[in-house]
Amino acid sequence: MNNNVYAEIGVSDKVYALGEKVLNALHDRFEQIDQTAEYNQAKVIAAMQKNRVNATCFAATSGYGYNDVGRDTLEQVYADTFHTEAALVRPQITCGTHALAVALSANLLPGDELYSPVGRPYDTLEEVIGIRESACSLAEYGVTYSETPLLPDGSIDYDSIRTAIHPNTKLATIQRSKGYATRPTLSVQQIGDLIRFMKEIKPDLICMVDNCYGEFTEKIEPSDMGADMIVGSLIKNPGGGLAPIGGYICGTKHCIDRCAYRLSAPGLGQEVGANLGLMPQLYQGFFLAPTVTAAATKGAIFAAAMYEQLGFRVVPASSEDRHDIIQAIELGSEEAMVAFCSGIQAAAPVDSYVTPIPWDMPGYDSKVIMAAGAFVQGSSIELSADGPIRPPYAVYFQGGLTWCHSKLGVLMSVQKMLDASLISL
Ligand SMILES: *Cc1c(COP(=O)(O)O)cnc(C)c1O
Repeated sequence: MNNNVYAEIGVSDKVYALGEKVLNALHDRFEQIDQTAEYNQAKVIAAMQKNRVNATCFAATSGYGYNDVGRDTLEQVYADTFHTEAALVRPQITCGTHALAVALSANLLPGDELYSPVGRPYDTLEEVIGIRESACSLAEYGVTYSETPLLPDGSIDYDSIRTAIHPNTKLATIQRSKGYATRPTLSVQQIGDLIRFMKEIKPDLICMVDNCYGEFTEKIEPSDMGADMIVGSLIKNPGGGLAPIGGYICGTKHCIDRCAYRLSAPGLGQEVGANLGLMPQLYQGFFLAPTVTAAATKGAIFAAAMYEQLGFRVVPASSEDRHDIIQAIELGSEEAMVAFCSGIQAAAPVDSYVTPIPWDMPGYDSKVIMAAGAFVQGSSIELSADGPIRPPYAVYFQGGLTWCHSKLGVLMSVQKMLDASLISL
């Protein structure tokens, strides 16, 4: 391919050539990802057909939003795609953390214990749970918390889990993706095995999976493997880049009813919540989500392969199976994190001229750097990179609505590392 356009946009011949060399070895991986996308695309279309999605579903509603056909049908499409009894999918759920907070607070009462069998959950949940003191945390309402860390090799510590579950253990939260940690992401199969193990110990244990970044990376979801609730954000995978806001909780009718009462009010539940004209984006985004997720997954594998080649530790390795779209790259210094992120920023269609710098962010306890030139603010299904400024100085690279954009981002990041003399080619 003629790389003049890359030279024009700032990628040198050397970096471009390295990229092509690395890509040559990835054809089989990419073929596998396309097969997963094809399967999931059919799954979503089948759910839309079953629910007779039609133009009336796209109409805006306002006020209370009683009898909102678009909203109710969309929820049924999510439920059928993820094979759950019920779903709550709403623009009134403001983000992934909100969806998780609703799912937890709706299903835990004073005296109950929340339990994480896979170590410390995502940073923003620490305040939801009360691991870090916060007004209105679950701890303030008398919900206790315990956790079992993963073993040093990232595997699940079944022996410790057996003794950690007791009569008050009401809800287990399982985070699929690594979040801001360099542990392995859990496969849906691993999550299924864990759920089965815990339910043998305590059959009425509610198992919730934080499914953020995992949707559509495999042919099955945790809800196919016994999860009572799966929870995520619409500005990640399932929104397909088009959803401008929203979150989802899919699961058993019992759990979802409670979530709806918590989100709106007891007695109101899913009956209220106008769609405000967002239905076209939410439907079309879900339709695009399988292929958008595939584009992002290819970008993650390309990033892994490139940075492996340059001698950095990457999690997961380029040859490993993928269970989410996140690529961690341990860059070893703040300067390298800044250079990497400035490359991602420079590749963006929006805000490409700004320079990302480390900053204090609400919900996080160390400074965070974020690169994003997104159409939807903070959208991390769009090409983005971020990470907390703390050892091992890992950046978390994710997204890309198209594979081509993701590729450009990786090439640009390498270029910026080279320009800053942090690597040599
Ligand atoms: C992104 C994410 C969240 C929180 O989502 P926000 O939409 O940023 O609030 C929770 N858990 C995991 C694993 C995530 O990746």
